[in-house]
Amino acid sequence: MQGFTRGEIPDYQVSAWLMAVFLRGMTPQETADLTLAMAASGDQMDLGRLQDTVDKHSTGGVGDKTSLILTPMLAALGLTVAKMSGRGLAHTGGTIDKLESIPGWTPELSEERFLAQAAEIGLALVGQSRDLAPADGKLYALRDVTATVDSLPLIASSIMSKKLASGAHTVVLDVKVGAGAFMRTVADGEALARAMVDIGTHAGRQVRAVLTEMDTPLGHLAGNSLEVLEALSTLRGEGPADLHELCVALAVEALAAHGEAEDAARMRAEATLHDGSALAKFRAFVEAQGGDPTYVDQPEKFDVAPGRAEVTAPAAGFVSAVDALGVGRAVLALGGGRERKGEAIDHGVGVELLKKPGEAVMAGEPVLRVYHRDGRGLGAALELLRAGLSIGTEPVAPAPLILGRVH
Ligand code: URA
Repeated sequence: MQGFTRGEIPDYQVSAWLMAVFLRGMTPQETADLTLAMAASGDQMDLGRLQDTVDKHSTGGVGDKTSLILTPMLAALGLTVAKMSGRGLAHTGGTIDKLESIPGWTPELSEERFLAQAAEIGLALVGQSRDLAPADGKLYALRDVTATVDSLPLIASSIMSKKLASGAHTVVLDVKVGAGAFMRTVADGEALARAMVDIGTHAGRQVRAVLTEMDTPLGHLAGNSLEVLEALSTLRGEGPADLHELCVALAVEALAAHGEAEDAARMRAEATLHDGSALAKFRAFVEAQGGDPTYVDQPEKFDVAPGRAEVTAPAAGFVSAVDALGVGRAVLALGGGRERKGEAIDHGVGVELLKKPGEAVMAGEPVLRVYHRDGRGLGAALELLRAGLSIGTEPVAPAPLILGRVH
């Protein structure tokens, strides 16, 4: 990994090795050793001066605004979140893009300010440093062009190398499973979670993983500003049940990793969404990173794209599926994500799920609402949404959100 990062080992040899790993897999020991070498390939954050550091990672979903809610909850619970977050990737959104919907908010802080802010308010979020686990950046680019992305030890080592180099003592992983996720089955999700937990444990960290359903987008809103709005209502205790439940479940894992009993942890975590303490942390965090804090209390200020279009139910029945991948791609088509690295995005566009799986609809009733700007991408978005919507004649029980836990 060191030789590859320095450019001494040519890409063609590493490509051959990647294909060998893709075909043959790696033992847990090999995966852990690879991860440690990748984590040591560049800068490693020293969070040693901070108390009770926690990091959180989602393997990527649609409508997944969990970090915006969970991180201020953890700060309100007395833990410290000094975290690096990413931008959107393909059809999945990114925390940094979402937060940039708040005018003035910046992901660029000096290391000194980052650490001081984390110590003071318990929460600081910055963009991924290029010097963190540079071996992963190079390897990922090679995997992308050699069709070796979809390999469990390579995904686990990629994610965990960045988490180890970021320095937090406790890591809570949200492993998404389903049509809108990397892992399509619970068995695959469990295997990935197990590999990541084992790597972290081997490296002396506390790692816990929760497997969660990603056939359907999380909450009701997908798109950058819209997701911040939904996060704000969840921080006020008024969020959708699935999103609220997931944030509490992940906070419980973080507290349990610090030795707290689960029942007490759940009560404390719930309280932060009802007593205003998580919202107060979010406001302080936005202000500390240059954002206009009035947006936190006056959600009507957000730039939501003014165009509206709806997808209606073709017949009466029950919503049986709203495909997360289709919703993610629709947001991308509307301009809310990037086809290429570095492209500008429209924070105001997105999709609202007016009904979720399990709910009854009448013929002609709106099921999905599109927020578009001057019709950009609207035709493609509507087509994707219509293709992903299924209405059945029989009531369906919505799938459970939490599919498993790995410690
Ligand atoms: N996320 C990563 O950071 N790496 C992977 O390989 C897959 C998802």
